[in-house]
Amino acid sequence: MSLYVLIHERLSAAPSAIVLGVPGGASLSAAVFLERTAQYASTLSALGVRKGDRVAVQADKSPETLMLYLACLRAGFVFLPMNPAYHDDEVDYMLGDAEPAVFVHRPETEAGSRILAERRGVRHVFSLGADGEGSFSLAAARSAPEFGIETCEEDDLAAMLYTSGTTGKPKGAMLTHGNLASNALALVEAWQFTAADVLLHALPIFHTHGLFVASHCALLSGARMIWLPRFERAAVMEHLSEATVFMGVPTYYTRLLTGEDFAREACGNLRLFVSGSAPLLAETHREFEQRTGQVILERYGMTETGMNTGNPYEGPRVPGSVGKPFDGVAVRVVGEDGAELSAGEVGEMQVKGPNVMGGYWRQGDKTSSAFTSDGYFKTGDVGRQDERGYFYIVGRAKDMIISGGFNVYPKEIEALIDGLPGVSESAVVGVPHGDFGEVGVAVVKATGSLSEAEILSFLTDRLAKYKVPKRVLFSEELPRNAMGKVQKNLLRERHRELFRSLP
Ligand code: AMP
Repeated sequence: MSLYVLIHERLSAAPSAIVLGVPGGASLSAAVFLERTAQYASTLSALGVRKGDRVAVQADKSPETLMLYLACLRAGFVFLPMNPAYHDDEVDYMLGDAEPAVFVHRPETEAGSRILAERRGVRHVFSLGADGEGSFSLAAARSAPEFGIETCEEDDLAAMLYTSGTTGKPKGAMLTHGNLASNALALVEAWQFTAADVLLHALPIFHTHGLFVASHCALLSGARMIWLPRFERAAVMEHLSEATVFMGVPTYYTRLLTGEDFAREACGNLRLFVSGSAPLLAETHREFEQRTGQVILERYGMTETGMNTGNPYEGPRVPGSVGKPFDGVAVRVVGEDGAELSAGEVGEMQVKGPNVMGGYWRQGDKTSSAFTSDGYFKTGDVGRQDERGYFYIVGRAKDMIISGGFNVYPKEIEALIDGLPGVSESAVVGVPHGDFGEVGVAVVKATGSLSEAEILSFLTDRLAKYKVPKRVLFSEELPRNAMGKVQKNLLRERHRELFRSLP
């Protein structure tokens, strides 16, 4: 099943319907989407880009970026979105690994992006700005808006998203048309999306949540999107009452709750608030309900699997729980010996279903170790199930921090710090934070006279901002267990008072 065919059928059924409106900007109809995706697909196809080729896109969020994604689905190209916050080193690695045929970058990074693309042998390089302008749009304007639909089977690749790892370099999660389509259909059904819905879209579109969960629900149901370039509290408050659905990471909800203006009246016609990508505190869930009379629906998923579980649309949405498996998805909790545990027992969450990726790009070993022998994906999340079948995530077996909804892998940062002259070793730990949920703090054992500011400035030049630790502390020794592994829990304990006072 081609995901694009499903979207195309929906768009073709109501060509004059508005798919997306930018406040103060353009409103784009389904007919425009159909025409533009054909035009973009034909632009790239004329260059010799073929089914299965990767199209890497590090662009700001815009309607054009979304239409470029759909054009890739239409032509059978593999869409590879990258966070615009990534620095050269991060992009360089992904271009080298994915070997895309095309790299679309922000106009602001023209010079650097061209150097990276050339070094990595990327044949076609274009710019695409937040306003939709750039060399890609110019090239598209010269192409005929005619293109068929490439035949794509369930197992054909649709997108590749890099997820960093606990053990080194980022890995490309290979998502097929079947993965994305099955998950999108399950969500439309579970959340009762219809053409009468209006989705306030404030999430980024280089990530599963904004690109797949939010956009697919709207595109497959004929709902309209109010398209915000990013989450800004004031803009969300201004447009919230025009929407029927809002999706966000927990940080969006805590930020909405910071002002008294966020109350029942502000939610107008909203019928559904969805939260995910990071744990939503039960207290935020409750405060939200008290303030608005609405109950947030928390769901749980990941890049490699799409959405796995969610609280019910009808029926109790339990604070602190991520709900029950979506249609067709099997979720289990297993102990250290791999045996399935009973309700109430805590173990690793494992997932199986049509939503789960085929594997990591050119990483057969990492793919095999990510799955059990009976085909379950090992999420690295630690959880339990209750007697009613609701799942609860209680922690993470993987060494990962989620800051404002974005995943930060300590290993990547520790490797950079450890490479500095005058550093003997380092450990990055996640500590609770009122706004971001968690933030990273680095604890460094130094042999030289490096300062906190020097380390932070070194990292700021090399890493996307959300990955840079909030603080660097120095310690004479890092606590280790008998296996020589740094005991991050003891580090957190040791610096608890300081962590509590982080701004
Ligand atoms: P990503 O691949 O960026 O979507 O991150 C996936 C990870 O985010 C999961 O493995 C979980 O650790 C975490 N996550 C996603 N949704 C939730 C949730 N509702 N509650 C707790 N953790 C979550």
